[in-house]
Amino acid sequence: NSVINRIAAGEIIHRPSNALKELLENSLDANASQIQVLAKDGGMKLLQIIDNGHGINREDLPLLCERFTTSKIQAYEDLEKISTYGFRGEALASISHVAHLSVITKTSDSSCAYKAKYIDGALSAGGSSEDSEPKPCAGNDGTQIIVENLFYNIPYRKQALKKTNEEYSRILDVVGKYAIHNAGVAMSCRKIGPKTIGNDVQTSKESSKPEIIRQIYGRSIADSLEKFEKDLSESVLATRFDGYASNGIFSCKKTTLLLFINNRLVENSSIRSSVEQLYSSTFPKSPKPFVYLSISIRPEYVDVNVHPTKKEVHFLNQDQIIIEVVNAIQQVLMHSNN
Ligand code: ADP
Ligand code: MG
Repeated sequence: NSVINRIAAGEIIHRPSNALKELLENSLDANASQIQVLAKDGGMKLLQIIDNGHGINREDLPLLCERFTTSKIQAYEDLEKISTYGFRGEALASISHVAHLSVITKTSDSSCAYKAKYIDGALSAGGSSEDSEPKPCAGNDGTQIIVENLFYNIPYRKQALKKTNEEYSRILDVVGKYAIHNAGVAMSCRKIGPKTIGNDVQTSKESSKPEIIRQIYGRSIADSLEKFEKDLSESVLATRFDGYASNGIFSCKKTTLLLFINNRLVENSSIRSSVEQLYSSTFPKSPKPFVYLSISIRPEYVDVNVHPTKKEVHFLNQDQIIIEVVNAIQQVLMHSNN
């Protein structure tokens, strides 16, 4: 049974950055205004995330890592909505099957924080002879999640991830993208150990989206951005979108598409190829685009079940919505080139 759970978990969590994405989304769902990420050995040895969100109640800790335990389903009619958002109570459970997981959390109405350790979906004493009950401890309001020794029990996954630098840059990539999308939330990401390639991420609650894009992707991209937006929420498409697109004077090394659907970082290959096609047909030198795009759709129109990691996402009226997005980007590009 625990082997089956482990294999299933290994399908959801492939690498440190997958785990981190889930943890970041949880902190954002908890309304955190400040999130700090710390990694060691590319997140393999340690992945720590500290937020100042609403915290977890003491009585919810024993079942926290049980599969399908979520606090995000309020009523039955929400079920469909919630599952399409990707809230299925699987993230912490999965992580606990492939790593050593500790949680320190405090709600504002509790006089102290509690610390709990988990292994294979359940509270654990973490090797000591004490009982496994959550222990009172000092701590600030919010939640700290500590993931240690990722894939200690899945040798083939661990083997596949030898380059800690690459894993760390994937972590930075995820934090950077969420920092852009969630401008207003102060986010930081740093690592323990020798300094290498790439900048760490550090944003303040005053940083605007273009400022964060500048910090992460550099001045030339940031200076080439045009803002676009469209509100079709009253139409049959029931959608709204906005974003920033590079104006074609500047060419990225490769297509960079930051796609958020209902505040989740996802992939959609049709959007990607339509945007690429727009740039190659609009500009003679067919530059590679940088596009940040945030789409809001009715949750029940989103289909996240195409892929177990919920990465590739499809949605209802996709073709029509893509046409609208491409038109909106084309309009600002035309405007900027005249
Ligand atoms: P889901 O996000 O799908 O509900 P998770 O396994 O990611 O499932 O998290 C399980 C539950 O743990 C969440 O529903 C939430 O109640 C709680 N939780 C996890 N992380 C945090 C956090 N950073 N702050 C507050 N609550 C959290
Ligand atoms: Mg979650």
